[in-house]
Amino acid sequence: MINYIGKAAEIISLSKNTVAFTGAGISVESGIPPFRGTSGLWSKYDPMLLDINYFTSHPERSWKAIKEIFYDFLSSAKPNPGHIALARMEEASLLQAIITQNIDNLHQQAGSKVIYEYHGNSQKLVCMKCATVYEAGEVTITDELPPKCAKCRGILKPNFIFFGEGIPEYAARMSVEAGYSCEVFIIIGTSGEVMPANLLPGMASQNGAKIIEINTEPSKYTRSVTDVFLQGKASEVLTSLLCELNLK
Ligand code: NAD
Repeated sequence: MINYIGKAAEIISLSKNTVAFTGAGISVESGIPPFRGTSGLWSKYDPMLLDINYFTSHPERSWKAIKEIFYDFLSSAKPNPGHIALARMEEASLLQAIITQNIDNLHQQAGSKVIYEYHGNSQKLVCMKCATVYEAGEVTITDELPPKCAKCRGILKPNFIFFGEGIPEYAARMSVEAGYSCEVFIIIGTSGEVMPANLLPGMASQNGAKIIEINTEPSKYTRSVTDVFLQGKASEVLTSLLCELNLK
């Protein structure tokens, strides 16, 4: 294991197929807290609030937390230099896809095009009764919770994955394909705690991909699959990487 940005840039330059795998850490500098760690969301909220069975039986309680976590401030979050660096790398054909565990829509806002949203997206809401899909902007999320479908008064659920739900079929298939076919896999800001997303780096590594990891601290991956560990904030490390790749 080495800690060297020039080495990472060289590996990426020589690769014909590079995939980035992002987690909550890349959005921390956009003002969105991660789940884990001392300032993480789980220090304030009970993860059970995002369990699908709990949501179905107590939608008003789950929705109170969902509104505070995902809709009160997430809508004003903007992409940071880390998101923008990945979009720039894709534009320069140095990145072929992003697999993201995030549901914050910031990769899209930064201009990335090929994105597999492993856990769905908060920008859509779906009616649990008639399956009508709404854009978040179409729904007024007030203190009168849960929000209801305009057509059938069914309860609306954010179109991201709750604990106990399956991964969206398309994103799951495309992520596995991307992981298996890539030459370089860049892990950015994820603890590696969430199944089954956390299996993707191991899959890529077993298939011969070089693993570059960016994180403020070592993760589960650092000593197991990582070839090059770049310690630091995602926005700073990715900005330095862009310079090394002559893209800045
Ligand atoms: P996590 O909360 O388990 O771990 C966050 C990781 O990011 C840690 O390893 C931490 O060391 C690292 N980190 C913190 N700040 C960083 C920075 N500035 N730069 C680089 N790394 C940094 O998050 P996870 O592994 O993504 O998994 C938890 C789940 O959290 C995912 O399913 C995801 O959907 C969900 N989540 C998403 C958002 C979002 O959409 N922005 C926010 C919170 C949680």
